Amino acid sequence: MTMGTHSEAAFHDAKSILVGGVNSPVRAFKGVGGTPIFFESATGATMTSVDQKQYIDYVLSWGPMILGHAHPKVIQAIQFAANKGTSFGAPNQYETQLAQLIQSFYPNMEKIRLVNSGTEAGMSVIRLARGFTQKSKIIKFAGCYHGHSDSLLVAAGSGGLTLGVPDSAGVTAGVAQDTICLDYNDVDSVKAVFSTYKSEIAGVILEPITGNMGVIKPSVAFLDALQAGCRDTGSLLIFDEVMCGFRVHPNGAQGLLGVIPDLTMLGKVIGGGLPCGAYGGRAEIMDYVAPEGSVYQAGTLSGNPVVMAAGIATLAEIKAQNYITTVSQQTQSFCELLHEKGVRHGLSVTQVGSMFSLFFSEKKPQSLIDVKNSDIKRFNLFYHGLLEKGIYFPPSAYEACFTSIAHTQSIYEKTFQSIMELLSLS
Ligand code: PMP
Repeated sequence: MTMGTHSEAAFHDAKSILVGGVNSPVRAFKGVGGTPIFFESATGATMTSVDQKQYIDYVLSWGPMILGHAHPKVIQAIQFAANKGTSFGAPNQYETQLAQLIQSFYPNMEKIRLVNSGTEAGMSVIRLARGFTQKSKIIKFAGCYHGHSDSLLVAAGSGGLTLGVPDSAGVTAGVAQDTICLDYNDVDSVKAVFSTYKSEIAGVILEPITGNMGVIKPSVAFLDALQAGCRDTGSLLIFDEVMCGFRVHPNGAQGLLGVIPDLTMLGKVIGGGLPCGAYGGRAEIMDYVAPEGSVYQAGTLSGNPVVMAAGIATLAEIKAQNYITTVSQQTQSFCELLHEKGVRHGLSVTQVGSMFSLFFSEKKPQSLIDVKNSDIKRFNLFYHGLLEKGIYFPPSAYEACFTSIAHTQSIYEKTFQSIMELLSLS
């Protein structure tokens, strides 16, 4: 078999031993077609492939790298911590420092538990919501992703108010039945579900600014309905800020939207590029978690000192330099221009803070149904055009792009020109 690029060869080798050649499905490029690019290094806003081609990176490891890749302060912190031992499996003071820093951004997280991924945060908040409320049902929304735990890999049933069905083989119908999946921004179904299942709902979980179906904002009426439903039935409002945390407002989506959830999930940015997640909220609820309470959750590598050091360096730098605001403003200018000039080519740009999405659709999507109605085929062609021009977007029409402090004006200009050239061709 003749091999073309080094990436193609690397993918061929990977497929012989790794399932699908990857360790996380979207990386396999099934959404956009073609061969995934293998990278060997990254610095600032740029990643270099094994074929020595440079790409402007708008994936940023799916969000964490808000300081850009290999930021000197983060690398230094990792090296310093690693030199003192890579894991203790016992308490260390970095854990308290990272939690304090997180709380300085998210004052409503009165108590915090650090974990190793967003998935762990997701499965833990669901168990906690059930343990605290003594109820079993969870409401989630189509297009929101909260990690791959069983209760959350659930799709909508056939009718609006029916219980959920498994969204993956291996998730049992029994588990799925305790999750109700509704359309994002659909106020009527939220109200209807709360009135039908009032005494059974443990919690409502959502991405308060979505990233996993592209960037979509919740309407005020939708948020009001969620808050009223939770208040009236004693269920918990859970914000999954794993993706939008530290990207839309210095106090998170909850600060931007002025809505205080009972529990918050975080991930990505808080680990500075190393594996980390967190959940937290009102002390009264969090004290149900072991060892204080009866909801069990643990982790051998949770609070790992090297990870903590990377997270502390990242959050400290963001805070000291007010980067959330700066990157948001730069991203907004870029996206406003792109939307204005792109509209006549059928492009809609959505953006909140340092997250944005491009949709080939006449209007800005409000839910997964709208996203699915956008021109995915055109996106995929456009995607490969971007790659040729050295611009790396998430390999799926359903994802958000991310920016960093390393994305300079000239990088935005190059991206803008490239997108305009591609639009005029298609
Ligand atoms: N929640 C959200 C909103 C996410 O975007 C993700 C991952 N993309 C997760 C949870 C799961 O995080 P992880 O991949 O770290 O398990």
